[in-house]
Amino acid sequence: MGVIVVGSFMYDLMVEAPRRPELGETLRGTAFRRSVGGKGFNQAVASARAGARTEMVGMLGEDPFGAEFRSVMDAEGIISEHVTSCVEGHSGTGVGMPVVYPDGNNSIIIIPRANEEMGVPEIEDAAESIENADVLLMQLEIPNDAVLRAAEIGHRAGTKVVLNPAPFRDLPPRIWALVDLFTPNEGELRAFCRSLGLGGEGPIDDLAKAFAGRLDVEVVVTLGDAGLLRVKPAGAVEHIRGHRVHAVDTVGAGDTFCGALCAQLAQGIDLSQALEFANAAAALSVTRAGSGTSSPSVEDVQSILI
Ligand code: ATP
Repeated sequence: MGVIVVGSFMYDLMVEAPRRPELGETLRGTAFRRSVGGKGFNQAVASARAGARTEMVGMLGEDPFGAEFRSVMDAEGIISEHVTSCVEGHSGTGVGMPVVYPDGNNSIIIIPRANEEMGVPEIEDAAESIENADVLLMQLEIPNDAVLRAAEIGHRAGTKVVLNPAPFRDLPPRIWALVDLFTPNEGELRAFCRSLGLGGEGPIDDLAKAFAGRLDVEVVVTLGDAGLLRVKPAGAVEHIRGHRVHAVDTVGAGDTFCGALCAQLAQGIDLSQALEFANAAAALSVTRAGSGTSSPSVEDVQSILI
């Protein structure tokens, strides 16, 4: 039942800056915020707020950041039975350092820490939950072994496997037969095409078609304010335009998109309608500051879809 997110926790230490600093420059920023984040956690929050029963599988440090994540998961109604605290490696909770610029764009440095300790045993402990979920949602801020094992368990049980391949890194070729829906942003799709020898230049529609055809997987490419492209393995392309909004902070737009999309799919909504909902949810999230905490409620999304 519902969505199971297997992924990362990153505690965000966010600054706002008037522009990108030059190499060696000390630049005075304009604001500082700290908040719970990480792609896995953000997507779980987006899914829960979009109305799906949501469980998270991941690893935290035994530290105050980890404790804060646990209390936020409780408050958001996210099931955390298979969220482990990393004792053996003494790794702390992962941290991320986003810098947000006045136009709403950002750059981010991450230090994964406990997320890197996620392995096959943690996934196998959560096997029953993965098998019982409608949708398994993953990203690439945890090791490939863990991602692959979860995909194998989900695929074998008939759970819909959704992979948001962020941040980009090469994947074992075996994964493609296990993934039902692949949701890169434009840069990630270009990087995968390059790494698979499909070229990384040229119109994004052509690349998405080549990728979906070669790997026999349905692809949804997110395009920031331009919305998204849906490409079926047979090559049919559908473009859904982005909503026109005033962007304040685009950190986590892709996470809101993926979490909201999977929540809809888990509630039996078809992919076309689920994409419209996720596109609206992500647009709303960029009008608010923060990443994990900027995902909208179902009611907020419905108000802009009318
Ligand atoms: P991030 O890494 O910041 O989480 P991303 O690069 O993974 O984001 P994007 O393609 O930038 O993902 O955005 C995801 C979705 O969010 C888009 O497909 C769109 O629906 C919505 N979105 C993002 N930016 C805007 C914007 N400025 N205006 C409207 N919608 C937006």
